[in-house]
Amino acid sequence: EAPMQPHLTLGVLDGDDIGLEIVPAAVAVVRAAAARTGLAIDWRPMPIGANALPTHGSTFPEGTMEALAKMDGFILGPIGHRAYPKVPGAINPHPIMRKGFGLFANVRPTRSYPGLGAVYDNIDLVIVRENNEGFQPDRNVVAGSGEFRPTEDVTISVRVITRAGSSKVARAAFEIARQRKKRLTVVHKNTVFKLGCGMFVEECYRVGQEFPDVTIDEVIVDTMAMRLIRDPWSFDVVVTTNMFGDILTDEAAGLVGGLGMAPGLCIGEGALAMAQATHGSAPDIAGQGIANPFAMIESARMMVEWLGHNRQIPEALAAAALMERAITKALADPATRTRDIKGRTGTEGMTQGIIAAIEADA
Ligand code: ATP
Ligand code: MG
Repeated sequence: EAPMQPHLTLGVLDGDDIGLEIVPAAVAVVRAAAARTGLAIDWRPMPIGANALPTHGSTFPEGTMEALAKMDGFILGPIGHRAYPKVPGAINPHPIMRKGFGLFANVRPTRSYPGLGAVYDNIDLVIVRENNEGFQPDRNVVAGSGEFRPTEDVTISVRVITRAGSSKVARAAFEIARQRKKRLTVVHKNTVFKLGCGMFVEECYRVGQEFPDVTIDEVIVDTMAMRLIRDPWSFDVVVTTNMFGDILTDEAAGLVGGLGMAPGLCIGEGALAMAQATHGSAPDIAGQGIANPFAMIESARMMVEWLGHNRQIPEALAAAALMERAITKALADPATRTRDIKGRTGTEGMTQGIIAAIEADA
C-alpha cells in the first residue's frame, strides 16, 4: 500500500471587490509551493459576499459554517459589507465566523522588505489582537450592537472584557513570543479603564507565570502609538485588546508600505485557522488588476505554516518556507511587485513572479 500523502483541506472564500483578484492569487501561490513539497491540498471554494446574494439569497449561504468546520483552515477574502444593499440576506459573516470557531486571536505581523519606499526598512514585529471582545461585544453578553441611545443626544458604547477572553489571547501571544525573542509587550490604558484594561493586564501577568522564559513589559496605548513611529525596533510581540489592536496594526502597516503589506491569521481554541488580510475590499481599486496581493498571500502562507506546526506536517512547513523565500525574492524586484510598493506590475505580475521564484527555488 502506498504511504498516505500529507494532506490539508482548505476552504476558499473570495469575498468582494479585490478579494476576487487577491484570493485566487493566494491559492495559486500556495498551490505552486505545495506541489513542490509534496503537500496535497483539497481546495474547497465556497460562495460568500455580494456574488452569493443573487445565487444563494444570502451573502453568507446556509451551511457555510458546517462545511468550514470540517476543514483544516480557510482563506477569507475581504468582505465589502459597507457596500451591501440593506436587503434580507445581507449578513456580515465576520462575527459569526470568529465567534463560531472561537477565533479569539488575530495575529498580525508587521515586517519590512527593503526597497519598497516604506518609512522603515528593518521592522519585524507581531501584534496579537484580541478578536472577540472589546467594543464589538458578544451579543450573548450585551444585547444588540453594544451601543445604546438612552436619549436622542446621548450614546453609550459598551466594551466587554472578560478574564477568560483576556487570558486566552494572552496565552496565544506568549506562545508566539516564546518562538521569537521571548519578549511580550502588553498594550492597554489601565490608567483610565481601570476595570476593563485593568482586568486585561492582570490576566496577561497571570498567564505570564506559565512562561517564565518570556519577559513582559507594558506600554500605555497612546504612548505606543508614538513609540511605533519613533522606535518600532524596541518591540517584538505585542498583545492588546480588540480596537487598540485594530488601530495599531494599521499604523504599523503604514510604516512598512501600507495596507497591502498587512497580513493576518485568526486562530483560537479549535484546530481551524482563518487567513484574513488586515485590509478591506478596496472597492476604489477593484477590477483594475492593481491590488497588492502580498497581504492575502502572506496570510495564506501563515496559515500553511501554522497548520504545519499544529499538525506536524513537515511538507506544510517546507511549503511555507519556500513561499517565504519566493515572496522575499519577488518583493526585491520592482518588475515583480505592485505600484503601491514602488513596483512596476499588477496583481497578476506579482503573483506570477512569486510562482516563478517558487519554481526556480533550488
Ligand atoms: P474596512 O472598513 O473593510 O476595513 P477600509 O475603509 O479600511 O475598509 P480598505 O478597503 O482597507 O478600506 O482600503 C483602504 C485604502 O487602502 C483604499 O484606498 C484601498 O485602495 C487601499 N488598499 C487596501 N488594500 C489594498 C491592497 N491590497 N493593495 C493596494 N491598496 C489597497
Ligand atoms: Mg480598515
